[in-house]
Amino acid sequence: MRKIIILLIFFTSTSFLLAKETRPLKIVATATIMADMTKNIVGDQSVVHCIVPAGADPHVYDPTPADAKLIADADLIIQNGLTFEGWLSELISNSGTKAKVITLTEGVDVIGSLDYTNSNDPHAWMNAANALVYIKNIKDALVEINPKNEEVYNFNYGVYKQQIEQLDNYILKEIQKIPENRRILITSHDAFQYYGKKYGIRLEAIQGTSTEAEAQTSDIIRLTKTIKENNIPAVFIESTINPKLLKGLAKENDIVVGGELFADSLGDEESEAATYLDMLRYNTDVIVAALSREVAVPVSTSSEEAPSSPYLTWGLLGLLLIGGFFFVFRQINN
Ligand SMILES: [Zn+2]
Repeated sequence: MRKIIILLIFFTSTSFLLAKETRPLKIVATATIMADMTKNIVGDQSVVHCIVPAGADPHVYDPTPADAKLIADADLIIQNGLTFEGWLSELISNSGTKAKVITLTEGVDVIGSLDYTNSNDPHAWMNAANALVYIKNIKDALVEINPKNEEVYNFNYGVYKQQIEQLDNYILKEIQKIPENRRILITSHDAFQYYGKKYGIRLEAIQGTSTEAEAQTSDIIRLTKTIKENNIPAVFIESTINPKLLKGLAKENDIVVGGELFADSLGDEESEAATYLDMLRYNTDVIVAALSREVAVPVSTSSEEAPSSPYLTWGLLGLLLIGGFFFVFRQINN
């Protein structure tokens, strides 16, 4: 009987340990960029949930009851910080969660907000070198709450770190291709300050560092002046922000919308900015292509067909007629 009891205790304790070992962590990230970085380090060990969906604006997000449940059940909550997710602290306190909360911008060289005194710009991920701080914070937190997987986390971290470093070099090199006087980026909101500071491109935006601020007429006047003075060939819209103001600005100045940039959210899975690495690479390619353009062409959106020239149509008709004439002529002569 004693043997049976000992065996029973042994099996119960081992199965408990096994269960504890294999239970995947519940990780919740606030926005797509932080979620993607975390997935790269976690690998397929655990599922990473994301609160703000791709394409939505994390500055002004309105949490749902499902989000509160996610937060309540989480083991680890990952936020950007610097008031990027102004809605999160209330969500955390209401949920009564016991999860560890980490702030990825901790340790980043922060840039102050241009619009609000005593406030910082949250878009630190736009400088790939800062992403190295982000992923180290993620890796350290994962190792702390799940030390058994330390080796996996360290390995994934090493691979991802190298990819981010390569991307950082790529952006530095690419921006150099834009003529120096045209290295001015005109966008919807000030999400590109970190990007501009690191890679040598001046930033001019319609709105401030948060999308909550209203654009002023004075902003439009200031941007028009910048476009004219520097012969800027393009402005850029952002995936999470209404493009109306920027499209108007482009039309008024007879320049193009250089493309859609991703700043506060990744694109969906089919987009060219489905991951953090792809997002920065894609943005850079769009910016370099549009600002390197020699001649400014009139505004047209990608969905609109380019109007065909009437000369081209008449020219083709003429060629057809002449060809037909020669064909008939040869038939008659034969
Ligand atoms: Zn933003």
